[in-house]
Amino acid sequence: MIESVCILGATGSIGKNTLKVIADHPQRYSVFALSANSDWSGLYDLCLQFKPKYAVVVDLDSASQLKFALSGAGLTQIEVCGGAAALSMIASHDDVDTVMAAIVGAAGLEPNLAAVRAGKKVLLANKESLVLAGSLFMDAVKDHGAVLLPIDSEHNAIFQCLSDGYRCGDSLDVSVDKVLLTASGGPFRGYSAEQLQDVTVEQACNHPNWSMGRKISVDSASLMNKGLELIEACWLFDINPDDIDVHIHPESIVHSMVAYSDGSILAQLGQPDMRTPIAYGLAWPERINAGVERLDLFKVASLNFEKPDDHAFPCLRLAKEAFKRGGSSCAYLNAANEVAVSAFLKGNISFTSIPDIIERVLSQAPLENLTSIQDVLDADAKARQFASRYVVEAVAQFTTL
Ligand code: NAD
Ligand code: MG
Repeated sequence: MIESVCILGATGSIGKNTLKVIADHPQRYSVFALSANSDWSGLYDLCLQFKPKYAVVVDLDSASQLKFALSGAGLTQIEVCGGAAALSMIASHDDVDTVMAAIVGAAGLEPNLAAVRAGKKVLLANKESLVLAGSLFMDAVKDHGAVLLPIDSEHNAIFQCLSDGYRCGDSLDVSVDKVLLTASGGPFRGYSAEQLQDVTVEQACNHPNWSMGRKISVDSASLMNKGLELIEACWLFDINPDDIDVHIHPESIVHSMVAYSDGSILAQLGQPDMRTPIAYGLAWPERINAGVERLDLFKVASLNFEKPDDHAFPCLRLAKEAFKRGGSSCAYLNAANEVAVSAFLKGNISFTSIPDIIERVLSQAPLENLTSIQDVLDADAKARQFASRYVVEAVAQFTTL
């Protein structure tokens, strides 16, 4: 039977890589729905190639432009929808088997949850939804019998190093001693706190090993990506942050590891190419050709591991603290990071203001548990207000420098 796939965030880096894998396996997968935020012309090109049943563009004007362009090309059978609610509609549609959750940021939460609640196979790239609402999200996975497969390369690696019967959300076997989460260290590995003060947007987005969207590239440069991933791992594998050790591994070949009580460490190795975890998620429990170049270990020659520098890169510590504090802390951490990174990408604040803003916002986070999605969305909105205020202060400082 052909598997019917919905791709949320189709025009992004993960979305396009997913479509590359799907295009190589037309006998296994068909594209049912694609979405974008506002890039209607990018979505138009994908519609021409994959001819989905639905194309969703959140921005209404851009949706109208896509509709016009598709009808000009004679593709009136593709139904174009505008607005954020349509994302949840396609993610939970009866004709969909599998949802690739590849929207960036908190905007992914509601459609991802809609997919989970409809009991779909959900390939989770959007780590922010677990950071924001991990407990509610994992409860929904269990309650609705959804199959959750991690696409983030590290979590995909950890999943591959666990026993065959393991499902995300289950407790780990007692024989698991530690999870070893690897991090490339990003473009600023080895920089001192002082050196980080005047790095540019271009430098921050220029990742040494991975080609990714701009937000996650900045997160990788600040090590907040690893912080978000630490929280993501805590939820996916029901593990305590103290049982996760971050290893800086500049080659990005070992994508993460699991240490067992008998002294064994299992690792998953591969090229730094997201098509590998994407293909694994699509085909699980089987494996298919991802179109990725074979890894030549003679060429790699050496694999190195270092401890992270918590002083120059405080984001990892902030994320760990947020998870331990609980309540609204992780939602505040995520929202503050999104607002600060967006201001940095616009050239309005310095790179080192990002952790400063997050730390200030985090200190405002209430400790009561978030018990509904509305609570989460309210916490997210509140944290964005605090963060925007601190950004204004940081802009003033930045422009007077
Ligand atoms: P990207 O910026 O390249 O693409 C983001 C996609 O989301 C685009 O299709 C965009 O149109 C859509 N989008 C953006 N804002 C939206 C909104 N408000 N509403 C609806 N749609 C919106 O991002 P990416 O690098 O592909 O990352 C996607 C997700 O996958 C992120 O959560 C990221 O952390 C995660 N991830 C990415 C990689 C990678 O290699 N790129 C690796 C691991 C995890
Ligand atoms: Mg990752």
